[in-house]
Order: sequence, then structure tokens, then C-alpha cells
Amino acid sequence: MQCHYCDREAAVAVEKDLVKVGLCEDHFQDRLEELSDSGWLDELQGELDVDR
Ligand SMILES: [Zn+2]
Repeated sequence: MQCHYCDREAAVAVEKDLVKVGLCEDHFQDRLEELSDSGWLDELQGELDVDR
């Protein structure tokens, strides 16, 4: 899967409201706060090693 914001390979795939979005590591870090606010992170944390 490709990152939603650039052409890099996505490191993470996030699915919310039936929409699947790929994010590379950089853009994932970029969106981390936003994702956390919108509740996406709750679903992600089981699958990811997030150290911060
Ligand atoms: Zn990206």
C-alpha cells in the first residue's frame, strides 16, 4: 500500500469508517496527534509498536 500523502510505501494502514488509508512513517508521525484526537489510535495501538 502507498502512503496517502506521498509516493512512499506505507508503513501503516489505518482503517476508519470503511476508508483505508496508508501512511508512511513520516506522515504517520505527522498525523499522530490528529489520529489520536479522532480515536484512530485506539484501533492502531494493538497492531503497532509506538514508543512515544
Ligand atoms: Zn507519506
